[in-house]
Amino acid sequence: MTGTAPPAKPRPVVQPWARPFWEATREGRLALQYCRACHVHVHYPRIACPHCGGDRMEWRTASGRGTIYSYTVVVSNAPSAFTADMPYVVAIIHLDEGVRMLSNVVGCDPDALRCDMPVEVVFERIDDEFTLPKFRPIEA
Ligand SMILES: [Zn+2]
Repeated sequence: MTGTAPPAKPRPVVQPWARPFWEATREGRLALQYCRACHVHVHYPRIACPHCGGDRMEWRTASGRGTIYSYTVVVSNAPSAFTADMPYVVAIIHLDEGVRMLSNVVGCDPDALRCDMPVEVVFERIDDEFTLPKFRPIEA
């Protein structure tokens, strides 16, 4: 690997029905699908509601707020595009809308994290196509 550029991080694979999610993040919004039959939010994006099987889905801008449901701090890993980021936090965020989202918690000391900690979305622009939603603790 010496003398070569570091490996690139994998890019999201975008299914057609998930495009509004990525269009929203580019605009600095977190968007979630909402089933107009069940009156619940849905995440990850789907072509039909996982609760009723219906297709009365619409996109709504989410609050961007939630709590840490679970997390891990990655401190060691096989060589990859993520090695330089260590230590980094991979977390499941329980959004206020009732769905869970896999993401990173950034801008904080990983040792200070705990489950149920309130967090809010921040956006990390990768390029013209992708902006990633990540989360940071909400200051008390
Ligand atoms: Zn439904």
